[in-house]
Amino acid sequence: MKTLGLLGGMSWESTAIYYRLLNEIVRERLGGLRSAKLLLWSFDFAEIAERQHAGDWEGAGALLVEAARGLEAAGAQGLVICTNTMHKLANEVQAAVSIPLIHIADATARAVADAGVKRPALLATRFTMEQDFYKGRLADKFGLQPVVPDLAGRDMVHRIIYDELCQGVVGESSKAAYIEEVGRMRRDEQIDGVIMGCTEITMLIGQGDFDIPVFDTTRIHAEAAVDFALS
Ligand code: GLU
Repeated sequence: MKTLGLLGGMSWESTAIYYRLLNEIVRERLGGLRSAKLLLWSFDFAEIAERQHAGDWEGAGALLVEAARGLEAAGAQGLVICTNTMHKLANEVQAAVSIPLIHIADATARAVADAGVKRPALLATRFTMEQDFYKGRLADKFGLQPVVPDLAGRDMVHRIIYDELCQGVVGESSKAAYIEEVGRMRRDEQIDGVIMGCTEITMLIGQGDFDIPVFDTTRIHAEAAVDFALS
């Protein structure tokens, strides 16, 4: 089994979920006392979020590159960036190391395409919903037509991620707001699935809340990382 290097702490709420999932998936596949071989670099998320919101992606990239090199030097054989948003810097991180990066958007797009879904709603941070690094990859590499909420919807989804989920707050009214937004997009935009394109969203909603396919990027990414570790 290969050792995975996790770039985590973005936020730690979802990194904790990754840690559990990676170990559970290895146990499901190998049984007994088997568990994942992991190295974790956990950021102080305030230092990352500050740079994101200031548009200082170069500064954020420098932090990620330093961490990725540290994980490689410590023995990681594959890298997992435990957030959708910071895949904005996936190319920079990949270029800085000689071990492969397991890309969350590629794993997600494969799951979406395999399910026959073409127009998935993309719920994520504003960075992921509004910039091209994620949506563009889904469209160009996999032929999907991701649909994002309108401006008010994007604000609401983004605010709940940073002000609530990343701070460990899971509220009923926020869950209702997400479900309502998906309902509106289904009526107005003919979406045929939902990508939970932020690794904390799995704390709030899940497949049980919808009758169209839901794609949990945290789980999908963890499964892809274990596929790699056991290959
Ligand atoms: N974990 C989130 C994501 O998957 C948001 C926090 C971040 O900006 O990294 O996008």
